[in-house]
Amino acid sequence: MKSIGLYIHIPFCKSKCPYCDFYSMRAYDGQPDEYTACVLESLEYWADKLGRTADTLYFGGGTPSLLGGRNIALITRRARELFGIDGEITVECNPSAVEDGFFETIAKSGVNRISLGMQSAVDNERRRLGRQADSKRVEECIRNARNAGIENITLDVMLGVPDQTQESLKKTIDFCLRNDVPHISAYMLKLEEGTYYYNNAEKLNLPDEDATADMYTLLGDILEENGYRNYEISNFAKPGFEGKHNLKYWNCEEYLGIGPSAHSFIDGKRFYYSRDIGSFCLGCEPLPDGEGGDEEEYIMLRLRLADGIVFDEFEKRFSKPFLTEISERAKTLEKHGLVNVTEASLSLTRKGYLLSNTIISELIYG
Ligand code: SF4
Repeated sequence: MKSIGLYIHIPFCKSKCPYCDFYSMRAYDGQPDEYTACVLESLEYWADKLGRTADTLYFGGGTPSLLGGRNIALITRRARELFGIDGEITVECNPSAVEDGFFETIAKSGVNRISLGMQSAVDNERRRLGRQADSKRVEECIRNARNAGIENITLDVMLGVPDQTQESLKKTIDFCLRNDVPHISAYMLKLEEGTYYYNNAEKLNLPDEDATADMYTLLGDILEENGYRNYEISNFAKPGFEGKHNLKYWNCEEYLGIGPSAHSFIDGKRFYYSRDIGSFCLGCEPLPDGEGGDEEEYIMLRLRLADGIVFDEFEKRFSKPFLTEISERAKTLEKHGLVNVTEASLSLTRKGYLLSNTIISELIYG
């Protein structure tokens, strides 16, 4: 049986960023330790119930670094013992929430990849996003992680944020290149209902859709010139540094999510924990979320990847040829430079990435 990916949600943040709707809260004194105990209990439960191995571990949030190095190391060691993990182990870190010695402690337990929530290297933009650390602090975190032996570092960059221009984005890209990080994730700001940004959008001086699309193109062009591959719509990596855990999501492979709001896909079934730390710690079962992994979902997810749908792989997985009607529709889109079709595969172009939702639904539903 193939190994699964293991995700652990850490629902704590120092304060709420004005655009964010992830499940997170401010922790009270002692809560990170209590939560660590709940996660350890849940790991035992799932290891016993599934009897599966895992080959990736990902701490997401929230702000996992707020759990503290000791707790991250405790969870990592136990997860490795229970699931036999010997691969990529990532921890998301907020540069303003990393204690002294944090990277050394987690590196010793097996953590080998850091995801830094930088968002922008321009301090004014970072402040408007609710981020407290300045770019010097981000640089210091990169240096400290490397000194602890963690070379695999990814930076988050946001596009379309208040006051951002092509010029200011170039400063952020320069920062990434100067620090020679091997992986960059670039996300366009989404206004999520219920957030401060959603309710105050007109006051924010947001770049419009076209300007944001131009920023995405600019970022992609510069990163590709500098040896990064745009291997997924929002992700760029130097060779060999693609995010192995997240690739499981796009390849429609299995993963187990532990913690409130975490989602799972195991044995064809999707399920998730509710957004409630109390019920998670009381051991409540996750909620069912239907079947997963059918052709439609596979096509939607794989088209996010530069490799797109490889017909041979599709045929092996679904025991039938790639759907003729989709291949026919792709031919029209190809004329507009939105997809690449070869004898072996179908994928979106960079221009196609910008319209990915529309193109994917056009391909599937016509
Ligand atoms: S640090 Fe991340 S998870 Fe926490 S509020 Fe900000 S964006 Fe959301």
